[in-house]
Amino acid sequence: MNAEINLAEKLGQKLPPQLVDFLQLAGRKAADRREKAYIVGGVVRDLLLGLDNYDIDLTVEGDAVALARYLMGSASDRITIHKQFNTAKIRWHDWNIDFVTARSETYASPGALPEITPSTLEADLKRRDFTINAMAIGLSGKSYGMLYDPCNGKRDLADKKIRILHDASFIDDSTRIWRGLRYEQRFGFELEPHTLQLLQRDIPMLDAISGERICYEIDCIFKEQYPEKVFKRADRLGVLNRFHPGVKFDMHTEERFSQARERCCPDSPSTLLYWLLLTYDLDIETKEAMISRLRLPKLIAQPLRDCSAVKDRLSLLAAPEIKPGEIYHLLFGYSLQAVLANIIATETEESRAALCLYMEKLHGVKAIITGSDLLEMGVTQGPLLKKMLDAILDARLNGKASSREDEIAIVRKMQAEGSK
Ligand code: ATP
Repeated sequence: MNAEINLAEKLGQKLPPQLVDFLQLAGRKAADRREKAYIVGGVVRDLLLGLDNYDIDLTVEGDAVALARYLMGSASDRITIHKQFNTAKIRWHDWNIDFVTARSETYASPGALPEITPSTLEADLKRRDFTINAMAIGLSGKSYGMLYDPCNGKRDLADKKIRILHDASFIDDSTRIWRGLRYEQRFGFELEPHTLQLLQRDIPMLDAISGERICYEIDCIFKEQYPEKVFKRADRLGVLNRFHPGVKFDMHTEERFSQARERCCPDSPSTLLYWLLLTYDLDIETKEAMISRLRLPKLIAQPLRDCSAVKDRLSLLAAPEIKPGEIYHLLFGYSLQAVLANIIATETEESRAALCLYMEKLHGVKAIITGSDLLEMGVTQGPLLKKMLDAILDARLNGKASSREDEIAIVRKMQAEGSK
């Protein structure tokens, strides 16, 4: 294995000192146990690229959970152990450090989760997705700072290439198709020609992947700085159509993504808002089919439906001289992210103005007087009470009531009219 490059100095320059102290301690404690610990994956890649990344993954030749326990001693409250996966997470100052036992994987069938057996660092690196993610840095004993790069990831980083490790990689796990496009677009790299050829060959394998795993990958793309780059590429390659038939990524959707960023600045748009914009042009039947195929959680599925319902109301919202109360009743109860998606996507200025008024002012409007106040004022439980509450709220929304006294006056008037 190529182990000639030492990155100890780079670790010291790029990572916060307390984190470096922790990594050195982890390396020493592993050596105490006659084990070896390594930093692996994205942090190594980003260190070589000169990018900040403190999401540390440690691979242990030995027993990762036992090492994490030994390392933290009595501070066991800072460890979370996932028994099912035999992994541990340590909270150290502001950072989370993941401990995983080095393992090799075999795939019983395409798209299934792999069978795992403990193994060496080299086998662990060779089960990974791309060469640029298959590097490690030693932490124990003399290997501190040593780069382990059995798949020539450093060369591919320099050449700006995304390369899989073997020809069946996308068949074993076709979520790597989405991952490959994400890294390619994030770093401005290219899928090397053979990898691209295999990716195109294996696109149909995406159908074997569970909805949950696809959604995870799509969410990861939404967290990128420019998700549209990934979807444009996926559309051109025919990958997006496998995500769900009928989903396209045209210039309108691209423009909507960039508007979402402008509107949400300085924050990033939520992944939910991107879901709504990606699927904005789909009709409700196609959305329902997608919701079942991907088994989308209710937190996404309901706003997707709301988004279509709000879209169906755009022409009503554009009516001349529409009153705030009417806008409120047309939109009340729908997810605000669905309203925001329509603000971004509608081409009608009048509809947008109504949606913005709702979003910025109306949706939070409440009357001061409550049902119990009305009961105290002698109104009896029943339809009249409900009618009064509606009338008070409408008066508030339409600017006809701005104080408790104004609301009481409305009630008194209605009581007087009722007793006539
Ligand atoms: P990011 O910067 O997107 O977080 P990362 O490299 O840290 O990138 P993770 O998704 O956190 O990515 O995964 C950690 C590492 O696990 C990756 O670097 C890669 O080596 C490996 N990995 C993750 N997913 C797969 C996969 N589907 N197949 C093979 N290896 C994978």
